[in-house]
Amino acid sequence: MSDLEAFRSETRAWLEENCPATMRSGVGESLTSGEGDICWGGRKFQFKSEDQKLWLERMGSRGWTVPTWPTEYGGGGLSKDEAKILQEELRRIKAKPALVSFGIWMLGPALLKFGTHEQKLEHLPKIARGEIRWCQGYSEPNAGSDLASLATKAEDKGDHYIVNGQKVWTSYADQADWIFCLVRTNPDDKHNGISFVLFDMESEGVSTKPIQLISGYSPFCETFFDNVTVSKTNLVGEENKGWTIAKYLLTHERTGISDMGMPAPLNSLAVEKLGTIDGELEDKMLRHQIAEHEIDAASFVFTMERAKDEAKAGGDMGAFSSMLKGYGTEINKARHELIVKVNGSDAFEWEGQFSNNGEIARSWLRTKANSIEGGTTEVQLNIIAKRILDLPA
Ligand SMILES: Cc1cc2nc3c(=O)[nH]c(=O)nc-3n(C[C@H](O)[C@H](O)[C@H](O)COP(=O)(O)OP(=O)(O)OC[C@H]3O[C@@H](n4cnc5c(N)ncnc54)[C@H](O)[C@@H]3O)c2cc1C
Repeated sequence: MSDLEAFRSETRAWLEENCPATMRSGVGESLTSGEGDICWGGRKFQFKSEDQKLWLERMGSRGWTVPTWPTEYGGGGLSKDEAKILQEELRRIKAKPALVSFGIWMLGPALLKFGTHEQKLEHLPKIARGEIRWCQGYSEPNAGSDLASLATKAEDKGDHYIVNGQKVWTSYADQADWIFCLVRTNPDDKHNGISFVLFDMESEGVSTKPIQLISGYSPFCETFFDNVTVSKTNLVGEENKGWTIAKYLLTHERTGISDMGMPAPLNSLAVEKLGTIDGELEDKMLRHQIAEHEIDAASFVFTMERAKDEAKAGGDMGAFSSMLKGYGTEINKARHELIVKVNGSDAFEWEGQFSNNGEIARSWLRTKANSIEGGTTEVQLNIIAKRILDLPA
């Protein structure tokens, strides 16, 4: 038996023994709605069940919430091939993700590349075990697409900064424990005057105010900083060099958003909901649309996997993440249009059993934000034009 085969059978046995039965019913409510039964971890997180908590503890203790991170930073230390096997085995038993978080998805990769050993030791294991939940303090009222115009000011006070300003659209700021935040440390240089700092959301002077989304959920916040003290030990990288870190993190955010375009089992959903005649859906047009969508989605997943493999092998995802984000957004919107079509009028129920308390409508509405969050589609198209197609700016 090869090492990888042995790893697969050990992994399978461990998952059989340790993944609670109630955690084996697939992704459950849509990842895109940002609510539902997803485990986000953190000090304020209310577990939906004892099994959800147990599943996080078990996966976190092995570092399998972040399988490829080094073990000294709380990761699983797995090779790329082993991590792939773990994913396959998780998918095989339809395991729900043990943890989804901005720490795993965005901050972790940036800290692994730019953080000091002490910063990695302090923050990464807590991300891996779901103990600390992070939010992203990038956008400001006048700095979204033109992010480098940000004005939140960090004044140098020797061993610490005093931070003043406002962020907006800070997803889950009111649920988060810590924030990774872009601040201006030099007012005279747009790109080389930005620093990347980390601080506790319970620091004196931090406040948040929720904003409601079209889906009825309210994960968004305005976030205010009023004379917040931030130790310089929480500066990542060099002062005034935060833009490079910010951009690197964005490539991870954009690739992560593109993952939302992963294919759902539309086929089985349609069969279950509408039934078949002679083994086929009666509505030929719908059958055609679902087939077309599944082919597009499968091609997209292969492209995404190739890009991620190349990135893990040392390549730089860079502007390619804009292509994934742009197309992933469209695929995800198309998938939800079809889910609505399959569910007919049930899809527009705001509450009630057929739509799982409005989850179908809420998830469909939530996909509208995919072309805005993490950088708008127009801006991704500009990046593709300039950096990939080499067209004039
Ligand atoms: C669901 C969701 C979650 C979010 N979560 C967070 C978060 O957690 N933290 C955070 O910091 N931010 C977050 N954001 C903010 C998001 O990153 C910004 O909304 C986004 O970058 C766009 O910025 P803006 O809203 O200021 O729009 P603007 O930049 O004002 O853009 C308005 C319009 O102008 C267009 N436009 C702007 N510049 C150009 C250009 N150069 N060429 C062509 N068209 C252009 C845009 O495409 C858009 O259509 C979130 C947004 C959403 C929708």
